[in-house]
Amino acid sequence: MDLSFDPDALDLSPYHHVGGRRIAATGPGPTMRRPSDGRAFAECPVGDAALVDRAVEAAAAALRTSGWGAAHPRERVRAMQRWADLMEREAARLARLEAVCSTRPVAQLVAGDIAVTAEQIRFFAEFADKEGSDVVPTAGTAFGMTLSEPYGVVGAITPWNFPLSMAGWKLGPALAAGNAVVLKPSEMTPFSTLFMAELAERAGIPAGLINVVLGDGPGTGAAITGHPGIAKVSFTGSTAAGTAIMETVARTGIKPMTLELGGKSPQLVFADADLELAAGAVARGILSNAGQACVAGSRLIVAEAVAEPLAEAIARHMADIRPGPTWDAATGYSPIVSRRQLDRIDAIVRASLAAGAQCRTGGGAMEREGYFYAPTILTGVDEGSPALREEIFGPVLTVQTFREEEEALALADHPTYGLAAGLFTRDVSRALRLSRSLQAGTVWVNRYNRSRDHILPTGGYKSSGIGKDLGREAYLANRRSKSVLIDL
Ligand code: NAD
Repeated sequence: MDLSFDPDALDLSPYHHVGGRRIAATGPGPTMRRPSDGRAFAECPVGDAALVDRAVEAAAAALRTSGWGAAHPRERVRAMQRWADLMEREAARLARLEAVCSTRPVAQLVAGDIAVTAEQIRFFAEFADKEGSDVVPTAGTAFGMTLSEPYGVVGAITPWNFPLSMAGWKLGPALAAGNAVVLKPSEMTPFSTLFMAELAERAGIPAGLINVVLGDGPGTGAAITGHPGIAKVSFTGSTAAGTAIMETVARTGIKPMTLELGGKSPQLVFADADLELAAGAVARGILSNAGQACVAGSRLIVAEAVAEPLAEAIARHMADIRPGPTWDAATGYSPIVSRRQLDRIDAIVRASLAAGAQCRTGGGAMEREGYFYAPTILTGVDEGSPALREEIFGPVLTVQTFREEEEALALADHPTYGLAAGLFTRDVSRALRLSRSLQAGTVWVNRYNRSRDHILPTGGYKSSGIGKDLGREAYLANRRSKSVLIDL
């Protein structure tokens, strides 16, 4: 099946989805542009506080009347499995709605993001009737238990880099755990999330359980996170926005939060590593979604003895990209999401060069339609280099070398972030030793990036976040326990 499509043939009028109904957009909002060719196609509506109120009420009403959290949990399992099946059946349309406004190439969406998200929804659904309340040991004259309960209405906020996957990370565990959700997708990429909500209702998930309110961060986003009817916040985005959300929540009423934030993840390559394997993995680790991934492996830390052949092999992989519009099924390399982001990447590269770094390959925007940045390798970066400190969110790999393991570990330790780390070595003792020492929420050994092992939780150390998405932890984070003690 050829997945390529004509982006001008899609109806892309944005709307909100509240209480099972489409609500027409109100008021002008941020201009939405296609990253692949820079063309403006719509304005994103900005949901106001009144609309957020309405969405929270719709969610609470759906929980009261549908029995979603109170019915037999197997009902939730079945409805969510039907939803996942529908997502796969509608994969072509879902992929188009996502590809047109985002950086995700259509073929990668169908084979990757959508297939994986459908499977994650099934994975989370299965917890619904397998995790629950516990009887606890007490004196014989008493009976003690912990009741496991959903929170109620969860407020979710997602970024633009993997819009559909991130919506799945939030909706899957929240719904399986018996909650309703008010979700604000990124103002740049709302369409796949809106369609996911429609598919959920077609699958029998009660209307009102998923509400999608479009809008900006400080306005609509803050109205959701600060709403008294929102019992828990689940956020994925930048550390700056995560900080703003913590402030909003601190001001408006304490509630639990899961925050999946930024990263500046290292990839450590030791002299005993399989260098061909490492080169491919390191290149993919930084080039996936053109570096616009929270876990982008943006700092190569390599043993001095193999630095040159490794950099050479990585540069070869980098030359082998297939840039193109996201609606072309042959495209393998993503555009950058916006002109602003492209300029920001370039400004950090320029500042790093001015501070003494050298450019081994790339180092500028690509000469083609749309917002494309050439895969870039910077060497000679020192401690103060902006390319080393800041999350660039682009295809820029810095290279640092080391002689001793201790030195590698010290370089890997970032003052702000601790999301993920890659480790390439054939020495199993070193792999285990460093897996313990690395200050990161995930360590990949002899690979980089996630597989389909949804059971492994993902989340950050340091300012990369609080709490976990995926795994059993994500399901449990969407339930709370109540202790009951009865004198017999
Ligand atoms: P962003 O923080 O600018 O925006 C993310 C979302 O938050 C958007 O929907 C935005 O409208 C909203 N938002 C912004 N300010 C807000 C506020 N004050 N209150 C409520 N909502 C607010 O991030 P982005 O540019 O869309 O995405 C890129 C960032 O996301 C990167 O930093 C990346 O590392 C991070 N990210 C992290 C993970 C992870 O799992 N840790 C996954 C994907 C992306």
